[in-house]
Amino acid sequence: NLTQRLAKVVKTMRGEARLTETNTAEMLREVRLALLEADVALPAVRDFIAKVKQKAMGEEVLAALSPGQALVGVVQRELAAMMGGDLGPEASLLSFATQPPAVILMAGLQGAGKTTTVGKLAKFLKEKHKKKVLTVSADVYRPAAIGQLQTVTAQVGADFFPSLPTDKPVDIALAALDFAKRHYHDVLIIDTAGRLGIDADMMAEIAALHAAVKPIETLFVVDAMLGQDAINTAKAFNDALPLTGIVLTKLDGDARGGAALSVRHITGKPIKFAGVAEKLDGLEAFDPQRMANRILGMGDILALVEEAQKGVDMAAAQDMAQKIKSGGRFDLNDFKAQLGQMKKMGGMASMMDKLPAQFQQAATGANMGNADKQVRRMEGMINSMTKQERAKPELIKATRKRRIAAGAGVQVQEVNRMLAQFDQMQTMMKKLKGGGMMKMMRSMKG
Ligand code: GDP
Ligand code: MG
Repeated sequence: NLTQRLAKVVKTMRGEARLTETNTAEMLREVRLALLEADVALPAVRDFIAKVKQKAMGEEVLAALSPGQALVGVVQRELAAMMGGDLGPEASLLSFATQPPAVILMAGLQGAGKTTTVGKLAKFLKEKHKKKVLTVSADVYRPAAIGQLQTVTAQVGADFFPSLPTDKPVDIALAALDFAKRHYHDVLIIDTAGRLGIDADMMAEIAALHAAVKPIETLFVVDAMLGQDAINTAKAFNDALPLTGIVLTKLDGDARGGAALSVRHITGKPIKFAGVAEKLDGLEAFDPQRMANRILGMGDILALVEEAQKGVDMAAAQDMAQKIKSGGRFDLNDFKAQLGQMKKMGGMASMMDKLPAQFQQAATGANMGNADKQVRRMEGMINSMTKQERAKPELIKATRKRRIAAGAGVQVQEVNRMLAQFDQMQTMMKKLKGGGMMKMMRSMKG
């Protein structure tokens, strides 16, 4: 996946102080392959690579200590931006800025998830926005379609306007609109018929529906599992209708999310919602950042970016992990080195916040939760120790404790406390075992 590819690039570029045409090209090739693997359509990949290339030539990256890592940061930020992060948080909101009822028209291929999404939206609008919602089906082709909408509408407790397979779609929509006006519905959601593929009749029909009811929202519903094909479908619907937003469904499956990038690229419209379950509560506001991370290969990439941002010396961390793994003892010299690392990472407290719960517990046990101030004192005490004492803390008895306390300007009790904390830390380190430090760092989310 992209994370592995990027990690490889970072590694090979570690020794290189500058970005060159060659190493940039190599990096971009990996990104390109990874996006294609994530099922992003080629035109969207090209567009993305061009943007990253432009940014990579920017001063920020050129001036970075590690250009490889800085480039990874660019890739992540650009991906989130292209996913809609640059549209701002308002982009995923539905508009109600109209004389009620606000009409929402659903468009998309058969099986995309339109009818299910109508149910989800009705539930969402009813519960979150306290709207009075009416639904209607203009799908007169499949015998079970109208009944399916009736069922999901009943499940969420919204109102349903019945229609007949013998009615004309535009007549159905206008009748429902009239009913909604007379019964003071805030929102009317119109479900429509899809086809298995793009089809001129379908486009003409939904365009006629759009012209008749003038919806404030025209949502294109697309199955994330379509992958690259999503781009053609999106283009056809975007050409036929003034879409206001996109709903990406079935993200609970193993779709790699490439469809999101493709659809954004071709329509420029915001992805407003993500369908994440068959159940009617499986609708979420679309989160560009999260989607970018999904394409990048989830959490792992964040460790790389974190590294780029905070200048943590991964090599040192790796050495330590190696030492612990190979049964080496974690001594006060390591502890001191680690305190230094933690300081670089924005302080102990912020680091502890980001640790997984199980480690947090161990850390709190070692009373390190709000220990930024203590870190400096600990360092002071460790600095007052001899090398031998650091390597073998059990040597530190009463006389030595008094000397260390005096050297660091603290009470003897504080030395005792620090040694006890170190003891707990040592136990925690044993628990982390192989790759513990790396795991800890990776698990930290920005
Ligand atoms: P329509 O033809 O566009 O109206 O699609 P439907 O709403 O009938 O959905 C087609 C199938 O996809 C149904 O089996 C739905 O349960 C399923 N579906 C819709 N949205 C989601 C989703 O977000 N996640 C999952 N897992 N299944 C979904
Ligand atoms: Mg349907």
